Amino acid sequence: MHFVVCIKQVPNTTKVRIDPETNTLVRAGVESIVNPFDENALEMALVLKEQNPGSKVTAVCMGPPQAADALKECVARGVDDVILLCDRAVAGSDTWATSYAIAQAVKSLPEPADLLLFGKQAIDGDTAQVGPGVAEHLGLPCITFVRAAKIAEPGRIALERVWEDGWEEIVSPLPAAVTVLKEANVPRLPSLRGKMAAKKLQIPLTTAEAIHADPAKIGLKASPTRVVRIFSPPQKTGGEKWTGLSGEEAGTKLAAALQDRKII
Ligand SMILES: Cc1cc2nc3c(=O)[nH]c(=O)nc-3n(C[C@H](O)[C@H](O)[C@H](O)COP(=O)(O)OP(=O)(O)OC[C@H]3O[C@@H](n4cnc5c(N)ncnc54)[C@H](O)[C@@H]3O)c2cc1C
Repeated sequence: MHFVVCIKQVPNTTKVRIDPETNTLVRAGVESIVNPFDENALEMALVLKEQNPGSKVTAVCMGPPQAADALKECVARGVDDVILLCDRAVAGSDTWATSYAIAQAVKSLPEPADLLLFGKQAIDGDTAQVGPGVAEHLGLPCITFVRAAKIAEPGRIALERVWEDGWEEIVSPLPAAVTVLKEANVPRLPSLRGKMAAKKLQIPLTTAEAIHADPAKIGLKASPTRVVRIFSPPQKTGGEKWTGLSGEEAGTKLAAALQDRKII
């Protein structure tokens, strides 16, 4: 079986500052990492490979040349093959154009994908749109918020999909796409042998032309959405404080306030 994991390289946002003048992220000098949710998607793919002998895992990434480091990290953890779509033609793509480009990259793989795996969301863009978007471009069923996956029988995958207050079991035909939650697993660390293999690796860059991406569907011009403004939300003030009330008075006042705001 062929498991294809989509990996985004993101700035380590725990170390990112917001420029107070421009309200944009200060990325200079910030280290780049594999999107943390993608580590869980990768771990799920590697476990599925181990459970299904003869399988392979490919990691797909769209990004600048330095995103090769993210793919090397994947190789160090056990990925068999990688593809880095790196082309100025895709720069400025919004999530729709990104999804199209990644779908084309997946289509261009020498072996068709049985399962596409994505992180739940990227920690910088945070939209959680790319997984479902790629699935839509490829006409695949997409199961989001997955915490467990097992090949149930040939051509079908059994999944656990989590909701806010519960979870459900889903069996989907393959090929399919899933987006993976943090709680799915604990990602493995790279092995020493993997690290050595990754160090030597030269990751070739793939162009938009090579994956037969339609130039009218990629990049800034082809992106139907625009970021009009980025701003930090106003700091919360802590609300009203009531003191010196009995329990009954406080309860009555609270109920009235909640009713006023149409919360109850
Ligand atoms: C309205 C809008 C306008 C934008 N304009 C620009 C712009 O002008 N210039 C610009 O550079 N960016 C722009 N972006 C950001 C860019 O579209 C996103 O970084 C990109 O589409 C990924 O979206 P996301 O970060 O929300 O990922 P999510 O949808 O949250 O990611 C979900 C999963 O998809 C996969 N994935 C996401 N991105 C990649 C990737 N690149 N390679 C491989 N797998 C991936 C990963 O598995 C990830 O866990 C824009 C975004 C929006 C919403």
